Amino acid sequence: MRVLIIGGGVGGLAAALALRRRQLPVAVYDAAGPASEPPARAEPPARVGPGLWLPPGAMQLFERWGLAGAVQGAGTVLERAVVQTAGGEELWSVNLATGASFEAPSVALSRGALTSLLAERLPAHVLNREATCEGFSETEEQVTARLAEGTEVGGEVLVGADGADSGVRRRLFPSAAPRETGRVSHWGVAPAPTDDPSERDRVLRDLWGKGARFVLLPVERDRVFWCAVQRASRAPRPRPNPDDAKASLADDYAGFPGPTGALIDATPAEAITRVELQDLAPLDQWHRGRVGLLGDAAHAASPALGLGPAQAVADAYALALAFDEHDAPEAVFAEYENRRMNEARRVQRRSRQLGDWGHAKSAWAHRLRDTALRLAPAAALRRTLFS
Ligand SMILES: Cc1cc2nc3c(=O)[nH]c(=O)nc-3n(C[C@H](O)[C@H](O)[C@H](O)COP(=O)(O)OP(=O)(O)OC[C@H]3O[C@@H](n4cnc5c(N)ncnc54)[C@H](O)[C@@H]3O)c2cc1C
Repeated sequence: MRVLIIGGGVGGLAAALALRRRQLPVAVYDAAGPASEPPARAEPPARVGPGLWLPPGAMQLFERWGLAGAVQGAGTVLERAVVQTAGGEELWSVNLATGASFEAPSVALSRGALTSLLAERLPAHVLNREATCEGFSETEEQVTARLAEGTEVGGEVLVGADGADSGVRRRLFPSAAPRETGRVSHWGVAPAPTDDPSERDRVLRDLWGKGARFVLLPVERDRVFWCAVQRASRAPRPRPNPDDAKASLADDYAGFPGPTGALIDATPAEAITRVELQDLAPLDQWHRGRVGLLGDAAHAASPALGLGPAQAVADAYALALAFDEHDAPEAVFAEYENRRMNEARRVQRRSRQLGDWGHAKSAWAHRLRDTALRLAPAAALRRTLFS
């Protein structure tokens, strides 16, 4: 059964690898050019942040695929995750060392490093770049994808792994449009604040202020991905001059602890990306006929928990298992949904709640939030974030 995968992000590439391990013929079509080139689509670049983290559950799947060592080598094995107030008080922390509470490490790395690593493991003929899917049609026997340059490609199954703004989803379920979360994110990548490698911070740090969060992720040996998320009403407006936008952001975060200001300062203004965050209301179904959805296309969540990449990897694994058990496309997709839908919905719901909670408006809600986090049972938080 030939599988067409639209989208070569984390989810599409992981699915291609997982399906090929089961000897299924697969072809991936991605709109973007090679990693070193700008996207072929006429869309703003960097719609998704350039840094990500993989919790132990995702790393266990990479272990099964024989890729855990390579993933760890490409990023930073995290020692701890810490939530702090904007005043610097530690509200919650967890030891991420393997063996402490978890059977596998958590790894932070750049999105490009992860997708390159996955792409390198696919034969050249499988991954087609600069191949934008513009539509598809189905007959009883097959599905045909129409690519931008007029080519058509056929298979028995089509998987839409084309991200939160999925065109495949729009055609399958036209009413399922992304919705605003009321939050704006700015992000960038900057040199790590210290030159001394022995002091390199292997900590995922999440700083919570009033209506604003700042997340730091050490994605490479000497580089930190940072992400500043604010309520839309408080965030700097889009400015024609990137220097003005950067100055305004630096002002907003002036009271935040540690290296916050230094990281914003060290990031070139034109390399800071501003995005109005959206998510997707949970769908009742992720497939119709021979066409199904995977990753953000199926269940985009607000990035508050940062679990999107791990969820896409879990989808890839579940889809491959479903192909083991069934032959008919409808049955494969039903089995895959059965394995994944509840968990994905839980992450969508919790991400939205955490986003609302993390950006509490009033001073009392803000204090209540901090107290709840101080008192929250460690095991429950560990399950939410690191399952
Ligand atoms: C605005 C936003 C910001 C985010 N920021 C972060 C973050 O900072 N850190 C983090 O960990 N997670 C973040 N996430 C979540 C995370 O990026 C996703 O959960 C994860 O990347 C999902 O992988 P995916 O493969 O499903 O989709 P994506 O990674 O989005 O990949 C989709 C792929 O499909 C391709 N594509 C799109 N349309 C077409 C088409 N018509 N034809 C062919 N190919 C197409 C794209 O080129 C892309 O390669 C963010 C999500 C959003 C929406």
